[in-house]
Amino acid sequence: MNRNIFIGGAWPYANNSLHVGHLAALLPADVIARYYRLNGDNVIYVSGTDSHGTPITVRARKENVSPDSIAEKYHAEFVKNFNDLDFSYDLYTTTMTDYHAEHVKAYLKRMYDNGFIYEKEEEQDFCPSCNAFLSDREIIGVCPHCHGVAKGDQCDNCLATLSASEVLDKKCANCGSKTILKPNKHLYFALSKFQDKIKKLTDDHANIWRYNAVNETYKFLDMGLIDRAVTRQLEWGIDVPFEHFEDKKIYVWIEAVLGYLTAGNKVADDKGIDFEKFMQKGNVTSYYVHGKDNIPFHTVIYPSLLMAIDENIDLPDHIISCEYVNMNNEKMSKSKGNLISLNELTSMFDKDSIRYFMLANGPENKDTNFSMQDFITNHNKFLVGTLGNFVNRNLSFMNKKFDGKICEGKIDENIKALTKDYYNEIGSLIERGKIKSAIEKAFDYVSEGNRYYSDRKPWEQVNNDIDEFNDTTYTCVYMMANMANMLMPFIPHTCERIKAKLALDFAPSWKEVEIKGNLQVQNNELLFERLQ
Ligand SMILES: [Zn+2]
Ligand SMILES: [Zn+2]
Repeated sequence: MNRNIFIGGAWPYANNSLHVGHLAALLPADVIARYYRLNGDNVIYVSGTDSHGTPITVRARKENVSPDSIAEKYHAEFVKNFNDLDFSYDLYTTTMTDYHAEHVKAYLKRMYDNGFIYEKEEEQDFCPSCNAFLSDREIIGVCPHCHGVAKGDQCDNCLATLSASEVLDKKCANCGSKTILKPNKHLYFALSKFQDKIKKLTDDHANIWRYNAVNETYKFLDMGLIDRAVTRQLEWGIDVPFEHFEDKKIYVWIEAVLGYLTAGNKVADDKGIDFEKFMQKGNVTSYYVHGKDNIPFHTVIYPSLLMAIDENIDLPDHIISCEYVNMNNEKMSKSKGNLISLNELTSMFDKDSIRYFMLANGPENKDTNFSMQDFITNHNKFLVGTLGNFVNRNLSFMNKKFDGKICEGKIDENIKALTKDYYNEIGSLIERGKIKSAIEKAFDYVSEGNRYYSDRKPWEQVNNDIDEFNDTTYTCVYMMANMANMLMPFIPHTCERIKAKLALDFAPSWKEVEIKGNLQVQNNELLFERLQ
């Protein structure tokens, strides 16, 4: 029976280029999506660019452009990065679309009707001459720590994070008038009501979610869940769908994370699927794939929003939250200047070489290190030395001796049985989110191929017993076809190239591929070049 699978890849924020850390966090989702599609399951795999919020408005003001031009620029860059690396999203969208805005508003109304969103007045900075409440960034004052010039949310001098209430001697950044405090109406989400339910959700998934996700969630719960503001005094964002909130926008924390539902809904709409039914508890298996800094959003806030919308929506089944990638054994950061962007990476290396490295060396359970040396060593050892070698030693021999003609032989029964076992084991690893072990296992299969070739010594068989030689070669080609199928979730472009080499036209699926009849090698091209 076909299963319903929902996969949400994290939404990158549109004010900086993506780097290898993002890729390590996001790539496992693509493997999971490709695997389930090969299985014939109904997959909805979505993500998009998180395009609202203060950092974008700050940057826009600094560069003297509009916030949407910043967001559009990075969105276009992300789309190109994901295309370059063969991500197979059913939809990669942005929070700037009308579709997203309209659906977010509808979800907000449902949460309000269900009693989880309420109004609350709070004292807020107001400029009497502009006759407007001020956002944090429109407040200029004095830092309580260093007495330097501070904004409403941060000191420009000592960089301390501030709340507007701590800032001294506050003035309006637009006109310079002294601010006064005035009661302002905001909407709040009753997150505190979900403390017990999130605790139970975490207990229930203690052995399914990644270890770091379970840990971080308990830590977050220990601090006690507190209600969060839904509205914000801002100009850049989605309008609030209630009267008397026309001067405010929906806070980005609530709107961006609902992108999973709005994007999923869009895919379902386009495919003619009933999304509510698709996402019902018991009807779907869901995966949320992101970096560890995003854990509480996916294990606490998002499930609480889901419960506030509808008790029957599936809550995150799998949390695939990776650790950090360090650069040459140092923490990656913009200030250190040691980030490698995906723009740079894709301009230097083959996309499958990048995919292979990030999956096989991904920070699944602990921080990992990225260095050019490791990258090159891995490429040469596994792509050139293991996979490339198996394909090349077989096919170039056939080219040299038989003009590329491969006669049908008998496929080794042990190898057939072994092949089926590999599909089962790799599939089970992917379903449990163990992507690193899964790609290792898939390359073990390639090594089995090399071992089989060496053990059978076809270079001797060719002179002594041509039938034995044909059986060996045909078994190797059978394995090659299965590599081109089994490696599809990990390095899809290379799989297509292997198929093209032998003019194999099987439809990919997660089961053993059979080959029939004589075959002809189509080209001499190496799969991978050795890197220096
Ligand atoms: Zn300061
Ligand atoms: Zn003013």
